[in-house]
Order: sequence, then C-alpha cells, then structure tokens
Amino acid sequence: MLENRQISQNSDITYGKKSAIEQVFNYALNNDENFFADANVIIATWNSQGRITRINPFGQKVFGYSEEEIINKRWELLLVNKDDRFKIVNDFIQISKGLRITNHDIEFISKQNKKIDIMWNHSLMNYSNNQSEVLSIGIDITNRKLLEEKLSRIAYYDDLTGLQNRSFFVKEVKQLIEVKSQFTLVHINIDNFSQINDTLNYASGDHFLQYVASMLSEFIKAPDKVARLSGDEFAILFYDMIDKDVIENRLKSLDEYIGPSWEVNHNEFFISASKGIAMFPKDGADSNAIFRNANIAMNKAKKQGKGRAVFYMEQILKENNENIKLSNQLQYAIKNNELVLYYQPQYELTSGKISGFEALVRWNHPQKGLIPPMKFIPMAEETGQIYELERWIIETALKRKLIFEKEGKKDLYISINLSSKSLSSELNFTELEHIFSNYDIDYSHIVIEITETAIISDMGFAVERLKRLRRLGMKIALDDFGTGYSSLIHLKDLPIDIVKLDRNFVSSIEERGKASVIIKALLYLALDLDYEVVAEGIETKEQLEYLKKYKCETGQGYLMSKPITIEEVQQLLLLDKDNM
Ligand code: C2E
Ligand code: CA
Ligand code: CA
Repeated sequence: MLENRQISQNSDITYGKKSAIEQVFNYALNNDENFFADANVIIATWNSQGRITRINPFGQKVFGYSEEEIINKRWELLLVNKDDRFKIVNDFIQISKGLRITNHDIEFISKQNKKIDIMWNHSLMNYSNNQSEVLSIGIDITNRKLLEEKLSRIAYYDDLTGLQNRSFFVKEVKQLIEVKSQFTLVHINIDNFSQINDTLNYASGDHFLQYVASMLSEFIKAPDKVARLSGDEFAILFYDMIDKDVIENRLKSLDEYIGPSWEVNHNEFFISASKGIAMFPKDGADSNAIFRNANIAMNKAKKQGKGRAVFYMEQILKENNENIKLSNQLQYAIKNNELVLYYQPQYELTSGKISGFEALVRWNHPQKGLIPPMKFIPMAEETGQIYELERWIIETALKRKLIFEKEGKKDLYISINLSSKSLSSELNFTELEHIFSNYDIDYSHIVIEITETAIISDMGFAVERLKRLRRLGMKIALDDFGTGYSSLIHLKDLPIDIVKLDRNFVSSIEERGKASVIIKALLYLALDLDYEVVAEGIETKEQLEYLKKYKCETGQGYLMSKPITIEEVQQLLLLDKDNM
C-alpha cells in the first residue's frame, strides 16, 4: 500500500533535514521492507479519520491484536482507556495541524486488558496526492516505568516501616503550597525512645518503631498521610484541616489508639509522643518554614513534659531566637567574668552550726541582670557549653575551699553540682579529674551532687566514674531524691554517701499524710543503710522540727538562708563563729 505513495515533507521540515522518524521510515520503504517487519518498535500509520491504516507485526504483538482486528479501527477506541481518549484526540488534532509530538507517553490497553506504557513520536506525512497520514513510532516502556516506580519507592519510602519518608513529605508539602491548599503538618517525636534501645536492643527498638508506624497508618485515613522522618520522628499531613479543636481531638484519639503501652519479652514500655503542629498558610510561607516551625513546636512540647501537643506560635520562634542569642552570649560569659557562684549554707540541724555550702551558679548578664541556672544550664547541656562552664564552676569552688582552709575553716564542706553530661563523656570527665588533682586541699570535704536521672540513664559509666571521684576522696550526694523512680533499696549498690531529700518531699511534711510517713520511713532506712541525709528547701519551723525529730542531720533552705554571695558568706561565718 505504502510503496506507491510519494512522501513529501511535513510543513515544518525542510528537505535534507529529515526527522529521525522520517529517516527511519524512508529507509524502511526504500531499502528494506523487512526492517519495517522486523523492527522492535511499534510503527503505525493512521488517516485523517484516526483509523489505523497500517501497523507492523511488533505493534500487533504488543497490543495483542491481529492485523485484521486492528486495521481500519479508530485507534483511541480500540487501544485507549475511556478517560484518556480525549488526550489522543487532542493530540491528533495538533498533529494534523503539522505539530510534531515527540517522546510523549500514554498508557494503552492491550486486547488482554494489560496496561502498556508507550512512548510515542508522531509526525504528519503529506503525500503528493494531497492526502496525509500520521506516522507514529512507539516504544514499549512498561518495564522502564516499573523500574522508575521501584526507584521512586526507594527514594520516597522508608525501608524499616514502609511508610513514606521525609523526601516524599517535603515534595508533597511543596506541591500543596504551590496549589495553595490549606493543610496541617504534625511533627511527632516518641518520648524516651532511647530507653527502649538502651534497655533492650536495637532490634527491639526497630520492632517498636514498626509497631508505632503500623498504628499510625491504621489510624490515619486517606487522603491524610503519615511518614517516618527519621529515627523516632514521624509526621502527619492533614489535608484541608486547619481547625485547632478538630486537630487537638484527632491527636488525642491517636494517643488513645496507639495505646498506653507496648509489650515485648514481658517488658512493658509506656508509649507517649510529643507533637508539634504547624499550619499552612498561617505558620509559614514555604515548606522549609512549615517543617521548621512544626519541629520548633515539637521541641517546645517535649520541654513541657511527655505526651504533649503544641501548636506553633510566633512566640515560640521568638523564645527560640532568644535562646540562641543567649547561648551565643554564654560563650563570652566565662571570659567576661559574668558567671558568679552563690553559696547556700547547710546546717547541722541539731546544733544550728553551718557545716558547709552548696555552690550554685548564676549568670550576671550585662543587660538582663542575674539569670538563674535553670535558664541557662539546660541550654548549655544541649549545646555542649556545659563542659567549659562546669570547669569554671569546679575551679572556682575548689579555690574557695583552698581559701577556707587557709583561713582555718578546715571543716567546711563545699558541695558542687555536676551535670549528668559530665559523667557521660569520658573526655570531659578525664579533664575534670585532672582539675580535681590540681588542688592541694582536703577532698574529703568536697561533695559532688548528682541527680538520680544522671546515674540511671547511663548506669554502667556513671557508677564507674563516681567510683573514680570517690577514690580521690570526695563524697557523692544523690540530689533531688524522691523525684525520680528508684527506691532507697535500689540505691544501695550505688557509690553514694549522701541522699538529698528533695524540696517537694520536705514541703509535704505539713500535710501530715502519706508523704510524711514516707519521709519518716526514708530517714530510718537511710540511717540503716549508712547514708547521711541532707534535707533541701526547708522553709518552715515545723518542717525543721519534724526533720530533727526523725534524725535528719543536715539541712538547707530559705528558713535559714537563701543562696548568698561570697561576701555575705564571710559575714555569716563571722556571726557563726560568735554563735559557737
Ligand atoms: P538544686 O541542686 O536542687 O539546688 C537547689 C535549688 O533550690 C537552688 O536553686 C536553691 O536556690 C533552691 N532552694 C534552696 N533552698 C530553697 C528553699 O527553701 N525553697 C525554695 N523554693 N528553693 C530553695 P537554684 O540556685 O536556682 O538552682 C536550681 C538548679 O540549677 C539546681 O537545683 C541545680 O540542679 C542547678 N544548678 C545550680 N547551680 C549549678 C551548678 O553549678 N552546676 C550544675 N550542673 N547545676 C547547677
Ligand atoms: Ca544540688
Ligand atoms: Ca536538689
């Protein structure tokens, strides 16, 4: 059929500069009919009514129709899904106008109802008899598409949980922002996940994450989506949902759905998650801002305790920036002599004599005045500035002890608070040991205060390092006792000499209820186990009398004295001497 037709050039193509398709086609026609028959690409022509006039054997094979079944059929009716037909017709109109369409992929349906992805190159051929036909050459790219999908699975899905990953969510959020739809991003961080990893092992940690992922994806219904961002961080995308109350309620039911606990090998772990929420467009103009602000809100939630949900507000960003500023300034605080040690006297409760002092750091900020430690120590722990800070604190306290000794006040104890961070880093701990060995003082009158959480969170290392401090002669005090989880019995294997009863315990004495019974029992038990007990935060006479009655030897608190400057300490010691 085709042999006797003369090919003239498509209007946008000049002689001598033929398109690849036409070159192939020309070659097939003029030199080698077998080429047309043997080609491993689909070659078809169709007329101005869209009816197929010719299709090569390869094309017949791909579509699953014989030549008789296919010739003279409208190809969009025979080979294309209803929904895609308009595309083909539209293409056909464009091509008929002389537009060449290249590398254009469309899904076709074979006779056996199989989906085939084909990449087409179409061009119009005008014959000398004023007729024209469309020549289409198609490559079966079904396998390539599958591969692409597989690659996108690798790129956009998380291996461990099968959830979508951060890249996918970023892409999705960008798209949503482009079409300006409203949505809410929730950043989720599992509370105390490291406890599971530490107590059990990484395999159990992975199981736990898979469990959480499965609960999340069961709970979140399409079109809403859930992803694992990294480690123990997940995220939810709520489409069209920007009502605070609705989101709050959804997250509450999510907490309930995941359940209060997870069990493995007869170990039960409580599950809770901190959640930060950012909404578009209110909380950020681009995907970076939305992700960052959800994260900032999540961090805020974490600081408020476990299981909280916090909505992003500009206020949080301000606080955050304020903290960053403060942390930058803290770098110079030591150099600029802005740190000060205050000392809170500790008393022998029966005699009323001062037995020593707890050193408590403050930051004398040039603009803000005295900043309490809780405002900058946790921050310094996060940034790692704590190490330098603590070296300064320890040296200052040891120098003070040296002065006391030179002044003849050899019996005064000095207590120094040690951050849990300092116990967990070997490098820094060795540096501290080095400082401790530099002073020629009576180390039996130095007390290192450490919180229970510091010991518990890193039991092996902490115990070994506390023993090293003890070998230098120092005493170890367990700070804030009563706020953590362990009982005195558990503590008996720890290298500690002193237990500091937490302020909350002491303040509950007046309630005369269960708490005071517990204190009584604790004091007896502590004596039995040979711990010295120091009561913190004594504020009333009644508390003092009660503690004395049950043989608590030492105490500190506003009733006797707040933390004071070193000048005030000197004054107080003069008076104390008079009292003796
Ligand atoms: P802490 O070690 O439990 O220190 C006792 C805190 O209770 C001090 O607060 C003290 O001023 C306060 N306090 C003492 N007696 C009373 C009382 O009768 N009533 C009340 N309401 N409070 C009382 P401060 O100085 O603000 O220190 C807070 C925390 O900051 C300390 O708790 C300690 O954990 C940390 N910290 C303070 N100085 C240092 C330090 O040099 N290094 C480290 N790592 N942490 C420090
Ligand atoms: Ca303390
Ligand atoms: Ca304390």
